[in-house]
Amino acid sequence: MKKETKQMNRRQMLKLTAAAGAGAVLMGSEANANAPKANSKEAISKKNPLHIAIIGGGMAGTALAYRLSRAITYPVITLYEPQERSCWYQPGLTMLGTGLWPIADLSYERDNYIPMHVTLKKEAVNAIDPENVSVTEANGKEVHYDYIIVATGLQLDFDAIEGLDSNITSLEHLDKLPVWMNDEAIGSVYYLHGAFRLSLQLDKVVEKAQKASKKEKLHVFFTQSGIRTKSPAAAKSVLLTLTQRLEKANLRDRVAISFITEDGKLSENKHYDKRYRILMKKEGVNIITDSLTAIDAGNQKATFEKQGTLPYDFIHITPPMKAATFLETAGLLDENGLVHVDKNTLEHNAYPKLFAIGDIVGCNTLKSASAINEQVKVITDTIRAIDEGEKPKAHYDGYGSDTMLCPEKKSAMIEAWNYKGTPLSPMISLDPMQCHGIYWYTTLYLSKSYIMQGVLRGWA
Ligand SMILES: Cc1cc2nc3c(=O)[nH]c(=O)nc-3n(C[C@H](O)[C@H](O)[C@H](O)COP(=O)(O)OP(=O)(O)OC[C@H]3O[C@@H](n4cnc5c(N)ncnc54)[C@H](O)[C@@H]3O)c2cc1C
Repeated sequence: MKKETKQMNRRQMLKLTAAAGAGAVLMGSEANANAPKANSKEAISKKNPLHIAIIGGGMAGTALAYRLSRAITYPVITLYEPQERSCWYQPGLTMLGTGLWPIADLSYERDNYIPMHVTLKKEAVNAIDPENVSVTEANGKEVHYDYIIVATGLQLDFDAIEGLDSNITSLEHLDKLPVWMNDEAIGSVYYLHGAFRLSLQLDKVVEKAQKASKKEKLHVFFTQSGIRTKSPAAAKSVLLTLTQRLEKANLRDRVAISFITEDGKLSENKHYDKRYRILMKKEGVNIITDSLTAIDAGNQKATFEKQGTLPYDFIHITPPMKAATFLETAGLLDENGLVHVDKNTLEHNAYPKLFAIGDIVGCNTLKSASAINEQVKVITDTIRAIDEGEKPKAHYDGYGSDTMLCPEKKSAMIEAWNYKGTPLSPMISLDPMQCHGIYWYTTLYLSKSYIMQGVLRGWA
């Protein structure tokens, strides 16, 4: 239920406190020695700091911590993040998986990305009480805040596919891997170990194709899950890497490739959807609407909801992605399993002191770092305005972008759009629905500095 928030904003309280201090000085009261001087930010801040919790120190939570800490006067920001390397450069997984970058190019430590004056708590939040604006920390302690921002990203849900039990929810796990994660015929660019092995796995497919015949083709599948997928273009980059390597070896006709899309879409945007269909046709890829339900790794068989069980020589899996369970328990999710926010303000639709940012937001937008860069500005400005007694004006327009690489051709297409749905040219006015060499260059050589130094540190 939406709570009424007619409390005095902090800025009004600060002014009152200052006025009270000034009054005390004039009256020569006993309190005047300790009273804060009028307009002395330092003195009054200690009495009324704004307490903000950010849950999740990945791309979104970190960028927001930086921006908020600069925009608000004396905020007390607590960032909850249990993972040491929460700042992995995730877009680099595409470059790693397609054999363009080494693994070291993705590695960033969380502790090097904590803004001054922000308190890092190296633990998870276990529960949120949205009515009381409080969180329960992993140690069981309940802590109240003025605002809570959910930046927990999406968990990889391999376990939803029978035979792929993993307990792996994030990108980073390298130890205690289940056996299937080292299976040559199962790949995925969406987590670190998967991306690390992928380029060699694609080479193996090319090797195998040499032994196949045109009649008895190899069978390769690429799966795409629904609306909760982050960077759906990444799987398409892997597909293009494979088709191009096969073409180069003159073996493309030895491999049947199917792209399996759970909701029948290739993009949430109809213009790009059309564009990807043209591209897939050109690459000789079958598009099938279906959903992967099980994998029998030992026998190299995949079971789909509609097509039944089929043999595969290689399968690239985009795992289903989901919100952390505690968000569901707190009743914060919409019908798509994402945090139910106002698409313009990113404020929760039922709880005005709660915002969400990043991959976890329930807006029709590309789940991407570029979307985060816009969202950070909106939440920061909204909280700052409320704090200063102004009417919040900032609105998120739904912008997001995602890169699809064509490695052998050294070009890339940047899928970019906002709520209006019109394809946008992200850098210079080139046809936004075509691959361009300049996008290849920027993706490989410029984007990382922009994201890691600009977006993540809240300067971009
Ligand atoms: C293969 C791939 C390619 C991509 N390509 C592009 C691209 O070309 N362009 C682009 O703009 N973007 C791209 N992205 C997307 C971009 O990287 C993500 O959108 C972005 O990293 C999401 O940030 P986030 O903070 O929302 O989530 P994350 O970075 O996943 O961070 C969430 C954090 O929350 C923490 N957390 C979770 N639960 C809790 C809890 N209970 N308590 C405390 N902390 C918690 C986690 O430990 C995690 O560190 C790509 C992503 C991938 C995987």
